[in-house]
Parts: sequence; structure tokens; C-alpha cells
Amino acid sequence: MSRSARYAVFGHPVAHSLSPRIHAAFGDQTGIAVDYAAIDAAPGAFADAPADFAGSGGDGANVTLPHKEAAFALANTRSDRAQRAGAVNTLVRRGGTWHGDNTDGAGLVRDLTDRHGLDRRGRRTLLIGAGGAARGVAGALLDAGVDGLTIVNRTPERADALADALGEPGRVHPRYLERVGESGEFDLIVNATSAGRGGAVPALPRALVGMRTAAVDLNYGEASVPFLAWARAHGVREAIDGLGMLVEQAAESFALWHGVRPETDPVFDALQARNAALVSAD
Ligand code: NDP
Repeated sequence: MSRSARYAVFGHPVAHSLSPRIHAAFGDQTGIAVDYAAIDAAPGAFADAPADFAGSGGDGANVTLPHKEAAFALANTRSDRAQRAGAVNTLVRRGGTWHGDNTDGAGLVRDLTDRHGLDRRGRRTLLIGAGGAARGVAGALLDAGVDGLTIVNRTPERADALADALGEPGRVHPRYLERVGESGEFDLIVNATSAGRGGAVPALPRALVGMRTAAVDLNYGEASVPFLAWARAHGVREAIDGLGMLVEQAAESFALWHGVRPETDPVFDALQARNAALVSAD
């Protein structure tokens, strides 16, 4: 009897992940039988996990915090966007080896463009954070035509390293977090830190926000509350959480695995309604 292909998200912790729900919804919508599980892999246990998974029928996987850089290292081949990010969030089984890709940046740009009608061209953009998620979205923001990308991070050396890796010194400017107020207003402020998971927000001055500033948090649910509250309190024109990006990056992974691009709006609407109920119930 033939065994159907298996998919999974690897992370630590991962029990909270919405990815199994999203991929099941895409499967229902497209008529593709999707066997997609959440697999908790502690940092020391991740190195062998994709090979073990392949041995039991694994054909594709998402990789989330904290394993994206380890997934990059173990992939046998990599897409250009994964190469640029130095991080992999999607593994695709090809000819008995793992191909690494990164769909985070495409997911963010598609959410901002298609769902929120936000034109990134010519926008002065501030990226806060230099971890795996920031690495995933920085190249896509540049490709989408932002007018200069300023990068700040709690650990400034990581902002410098990300700026170097992007290889566009004329457009990418690492700055000290404490001095970012000197850079003036930004049209787009992207929070790619995990500070909100602990209820915190990086210390940001009011001077960053102008009349047409849009603020985007890659986090969603409770973790997005501190940054988006800061943004609204400072009068941003639009405050967007990371739920749309989550659904869009998942759709991009689904298309890589199954060759079909699912409709994202119904899945996004259902998750947003559920999330709103959860946040307001707290
Ligand atoms: P990493 O652990 O790789 O990086 C964390 C980043 O947050 C680093 O830049 C770190 O700075 C910074 N940071 C952590 N705590 C604080 C703090 N208290 N104050 C200031 N900065 C802080 O995580 P990822 O980059 O993978 O993920 C970041 C967030 O983005 C996560 O919460 C994740 O859930 C979310 N995400 C959402 C996605 C979506 O589809 N919507 C996709 C991917 C991620 P330092 O370098 O100094 O440690």
C-alpha cells in the first residue's frame, strides 16, 4: 500500500503553531490530502530530524524558530532568496535530498501589497531586528523597491552583519538602536523582533513616526500587542500584524510542495476572527 507524503513544521516550542491548521485548510480547499504535523525539536535534536522525517515519508517541512539557520546549513541545495537570507523556512524533498527555500519575505510583501494595498516603492523603511525573520524579509523589501532600508537591533553587530550580507551599501544602513531617532521619520516601520513575546517593545522614539507611516509587526496575537499599541499611540496611519504574512508564507510553501497556489483570503479571515476572540478574551 502506498503511503501518502508527509509534511510538518519543526520548531521549539511548536505546539502553538497555526501552520497545521493553515495547511489543512489549504488542503480542503484544493482537494489535496494533506498530512501535516507539528514536530517539537529541541535545539540539540534538530540536526537529525529532517533526515528521520524523510525516512518516514516526509516530503516537505516548514522550519520555525529557532531552527531556520540550522535548516539553511543542512539543506543540500538552496534557492537564491534562502541564500540571501542565510535562513531556510521551507524544505522541499528533491531527488532524495533537501532543497532549502525561504518564503517569509515573499509572504510579507504579498500581504502588504495584495491585502493592505501598501505600495512599498519609494518608502523609507526601518527594520527592527536582525534574527531569522529579519533576514528573511530584508531582501524581499529591497526587491520590492523600498527607498533605503535602515536596520537596528538590540545587538548592533547582528544589524551590521545583516547589512553586510545584503550587499547593497548604498541602500542599506545599519544604525544603533539608541540613536535611530536621529534618522528622522520612516514611511514603513517593520518590527521583526521577538520582544513582544515577553510583552516588551524595543525602545523607539516618537520621531520615527510621520503623517504617512505604516507600522508592521511580524508577530500576531498577544505578541503583536506591545509594538502595535506603541505604533497606534504615536499616530501611525496603519498598524498591521503578522497574521497575513503567516498565511501568505504558508501559501508559498504549499505551492512549492503541491504545485497549486491556494486562496489565502478565506483562511486569513477565519484565523483573524479566531485571534480577535482569543486576544479580547484575555
Ligand atoms: P530570532 O530569535 O532569530 O531573532 C529575535 C530578534 O528579536 C533578534 O533581532 C533579537 O535581538 C530581537 N529581540 C529579542 N528580544 C528583544 C528585546 N527584548 N528587545 C529588543 N530586541 C529583542 O527570531 P525570528 O527572527 O525567527 O522571529 C522574530 C519574530 O518574528 C518571532 O516572534 C516570530 O514569531 C515572528 N515571525 C513571524 C512570521 C510570520 O509569518 N508572521 C515569520 C517569522 C517570524 P538580538 O539579536 O539582540 O538578540
